[in-house]
Amino acid sequence: MLNRLKKRYPDIGTALDYVDPWQLLVATVLSAQTTDDNVNRVTPVLFGRWPTPEDLANADPEAVEEVVFSTGFYRQKTKSIISLATDVVEKFDGQVPDELDAMVTLRGVGRKTASVVLAEAWGRPAIAVDTHVKRVTARLGLTTNSDPVKVEHDLRALYPEKEWAGISMRMIQFGRDVCDARKPRCWECPLVDRCPYPDKSPRP
Ligand code: SF4
Repeated sequence: MLNRLKKRYPDIGTALDYVDPWQLLVATVLSAQTTDDNVNRVTPVLFGRWPTPEDLANADPEAVEEVVFSTGFYRQKTKSIISLATDVVEKFDGQVPDELDAMVTLRGVGRKTASVVLAEAWGRPAIAVDTHVKRVTARLGLTTNSDPVKVEHDLRALYPEKEWAGISMRMIQFGRDVCDARKPRCWECPLVDRCPYPDKSPRP
């Protein structure tokens, strides 16, 4: 299954713009409940004014709110990214850590966000489980769990470590393009002959 997804999406990566792990971490936090395009319009201004974690940790929250306003939930997001910056400075000397256990000690960083940054920016073996990954893996019978941590462990058990970093983005894109939540496009699915999902959609 993964080989077929690799064939369909040979060079997939996050659509968020970033130049280093710090920028991807902040962009990922800002991407909650909005599109990657919206975030990409905001981050050049944000990192132009406050380039480093130190700068953002000391920023005036109201000025940050103005910049991130268009990504929605701007007050909460401002608090989150300033706390995050403070933690990166105080706990890790201004450097984003490259280990899952360390990353999840940062305020506002859960396992999913940490895994995205580890896989995408650091190239480390990590599998981020979001709503698309949960749905696609369940339909394909790759897990019987719904808890994201358990789904992640099931995927880790199924695939060799060198493949982990390439799993999430491909499944997310596949979930968007083909295995849609409401109406999966089973008639054009490259995995249809392997998929045990009982409610496949007929060709319209
Ligand atoms: S056959 Fe349908 S339900 Fe199964 S993975 Fe493909 S799109 Fe999803």
